[in-house]
Parts: sequence; structure tokens; C-alpha cells
Amino acid sequence: MSPNVATYKPIRFTLLALILPSELDMMNKTRRCPWCLLESETNPGPTHAYLESSPECWRLYGELLAKEYEDPRYMKVHALTVDSYALQHPGKESVRTISSANTHLASLYAYFELGISLGNLVRIKKRVVAFKHAFEWLVPPADMSKITVLDVLECKTPEEHAKSVEEWACYIFQSWKLHHKKVASYIEGFHSNLDVST
Ligand SMILES: [Zn+2]
Repeated sequence: MSPNVATYKPIRFTLLALILPSELDMMNKTRRCPWCLLESETNPGPTHAYLESSPECWRLYGELLAKEYEDPRYMKVHALTVDSYALQHPGKESVRTISSANTHLASLYAYFELGISLGNLVRIKKRVVAFKHAFEWLVPPADMSKITVLDVLECKTPEEHAKSVEEWACYIFQSWKLHHKKVASYIEGFHSNLDVST
């Protein structure tokens, strides 16, 4: 006796309804990062507590950080790497994401607009936190997908790496231009006291 095809349809729908979203991810061969739009072969793993990325993009960022920590020549531009990735993956509005976006954008403003040296950007970030009472949600740019962590990771020499990180940081900084004035107000009062030559 041949099976009645019509009777199979409800069973198929029932099975699909039981599949969890995480299992659907595993069934897909590739996944797109929600912010930088980098498409990678699906490979489940951890992500950051509040920055928002695909696990694959987060893993590549981890590889990039390891490359910088293992070689001082790559580490020189580390501050820009951290600022760029955080601003490119800002997440959803919360106390922590508001603080993150304001602080990292102020750091890039200090570097590109005020000429603060790479070595002083950590100090800038620490001092900007004092203005957290004035922080507000900075609506992220609609598209920040032109340069991704993978472009930087593919560089073969420290010189290429530094150039690529700088381009990435500049692109991300320009993408957030709507909020430059806001972050400028935090640092223009104290940046002249910093030694910008170090
Ligand atoms: Zn990403």
C-alpha cells in the first residue's frame, strides 16, 4: 500500500516547530554578523556580554587581539583596534552599551581631531568616564560594513596591519560623525593637559 502524501505534511510542520533557533543556525552553512555584516561559515561559540556580533566575527576579533598581544609591533595600534571593534558592534541600548559607545567614540575623536597620541588614548578613556552623567544613547550608523575585522586580520606585516587598523578606525569614526560634537564636549576641557607627544 502506497503512503498517503497528504498525511506527511502535518508531521513535517510539527518537526520544524520543535527546532530551536540555535539548531537552525547550525543547519545553515553561513551566518552574517548583525553589525559588520561579515558572512562566515557557521561555527558556534561565545560572544561578548553586551557588544553584539556573530560568534564567528567575535572569534576573528579574538585572533586579531592575540596577534597584537603576541608582537609589540602589532600592538602599537591596539587602542584603535579596540575602539573600532566596539563601535562597529555597539549592541542594543543599555547602561553598558551607552558607556561603551561614548567612551570609544571619544577616544577616536581625541586621536583624529585633537592629535592625541596612541599611547594616551587609554588615559582619555579613563578620564571620559568622569562624564558618564552626561552620556546618552548614541544611535548607531545604519551601515558600517565596508571594512571588517577580517580585512585587518589578513594583513601580513606590522606595517600593513597598522595602516589597515588606521583605515578601519577612520572609517568607523566617520560613520559616527553625527555624534562627534557630543563626545567632543567631554574631552575638550582637559585634553590640553595631556602630553600628546608620548
Ligand atoms: Zn562583526
